[in-house]
Amino acid sequence: MPDTIFDKILRREIPARIAYEDEDILAFHDANPQAPTHVLFIPKTPIATLNDLRPEHAELVGRLVLAAAAFAKQSGFAENGYRTVFNCNRDGGQSVYHIHLHLLAGRPLVWPPG
Ligand code: 5GP
Repeated sequence: MPDTIFDKILRREIPARIAYEDEDILAFHDANPQAPTHVLFIPKTPIATLNDLRPEHAELVGRLVLAAAAFAKQSGFAENGYRTVFNCNRDGGQSVYHIHLHLLAGRPLVWPPG
């Protein structure tokens, strides 16, 4: 899989404002936030798109969701709510081909999204 900007963030070659890290996951604030809080949760293992997920990734993907929910709770967004999104490929609006879970919070979010 080709290197992406997120691999450079994982290797600390370019800076990012880290929100959360554990053995398998890194979360950092989006450089172009679409809400007052916009954090990206990525696996340290590079997986290009949701289409590339295999059954053995189930726990990892579940942990991404749990990490995002825990961060939202700790940040005080649980009650008002927030949105989590995985974009996939062109029509889904994916621009970085290393899967990432967007966490958007801090304002009411309209539905359907654009
Ligand atoms: P996608 O469009 O692939 O779902 O989301 C990619 C996200 O990565 C975008 O929201 C974009 O703003 C963010 N992004 C792209 N390059 C960088 C970067 O160098 N640093 C950070 N922190 N975010 C980035």
